[in-house]
Amino acid sequence: MRRTEYLPGDNVTDSLLNWIRPEIRALSAYHVADAEGMVKLDAMENPYALPQTDRSDWLNKVSEAEINRYPDPHARKLKLALNALMQPPAGTATLLGNGSDEIIQMLALAVAQPGRCIMAFEPGFVMYRMIAEFTGMQYVGAPLDDDFEIDVVKTLRLIDQHQPAIIFIAYPNNPTANCFHASAIEQIIKFAPGMVVIDEAYHPFAQDSYIDTLAQHEKLLVMRTVSKMGLAGLRLGVLFGHPLLINEIDKVRLPYNINVLTQKAAAAILKKPQAMEQQAAQIRQQREVMLQQLADMPDVKVYPSRANFILFRLLQANATEVFEKLKQQGVLIKNMSAAGGVLENCLRVTVGTEEENAVFMRAIARAMNNE
Ligand SMILES: *Cc1c(COP(=O)(O)O)cnc(C)c1O
Repeated sequence: MRRTEYLPGDNVTDSLLNWIRPEIRALSAYHVADAEGMVKLDAMENPYALPQTDRSDWLNKVSEAEINRYPDPHARKLKLALNALMQPPAGTATLLGNGSDEIIQMLALAVAQPGRCIMAFEPGFVMYRMIAEFTGMQYVGAPLDDDFEIDVVKTLRLIDQHQPAIIFIAYPNNPTANCFHASAIEQIIKFAPGMVVIDEAYHPFAQDSYIDTLAQHEKLLVMRTVSKMGLAGLRLGVLFGHPLLINEIDKVRLPYNINVLTQKAAAAILKKPQAMEQQAAQIRQQREVMLQQLADMPDVKVYPSRANFILFRLLQANATEVFEKLKQQGVLIKNMSAAGGVLENCLRVTVGTEEENAVFMRAIARAMNNE
């Protein structure tokens, strides 16, 4: 009888599964929590919609898109809009990715070779490690110190020992929310044998950048994304750097990686960034309110934040229990505690609207009082 569907009990034979690389089989897929109907404060999204006038503006532009044709492979108009907004030094080259995650993947693909490694800091953004593994590279995590700052001596020793092809520095760092000291970053740039990528995903909230210093260091690359500023659904990241280096990385980019709808929409929206800039200012202001409210809670240690999220540690209550109680009250944040180690009993909350933040603050007070 010819099978017309997969049945729940069906097993794929080991001889077939064994074709999947053992490193891949050992991985667990990047988990995205189901947020249906929740106050969603887990993924660093901008909680505000674009104003109606801006919305009709970009919808008009999108309506002109020729979806029967492949998009501009170089996304020229979009790059012009990004450069006008982000102002890299003259002569800087620009590479676009389907989210900055895809840029991390392109960088890894361009350098991957047996024995080579990618380096980043721990605790840090998990995609650096995951993509290193996807591309068959080694990953070296340099531990941050107790204040989540770079331990320069230890880091330079690791660089010397492992000679990383790429060092990723998230600025501010996720999930710790701080910007590392400039002197530490400077020493790493000076000492690194390969490329150094400053990942400025949270630039709208940190308002501090290495973009102006690009021309001083040929090994330096600056990465940005539109995700955290309010366009996470478009999937668009950008890498700035030396033209000869960008030109090589561009060779592993799949043609047409930025679809026509994203090209049209992002170009239109980024030409009029005022609304998103106001939203970022509101989020920065709300961040200060939340930092203070959390600091005022007994049993909470809150870490400084230059981003649109806050990392905090529960000193007595159990973070996983509090996380679950928040969920029962319809509030989704991120439990960092599972990883253990220096993030033991830590939670991460994204700054939302004033109303969402108030709901979160009430819910966590209740959860900590065992209500
Ligand atoms: C969220 C995040 C990204 C991912 O950005 P996308 O452009 O949405 O892929 C990159 N780096 C860091 C540090 C992040 O926190």
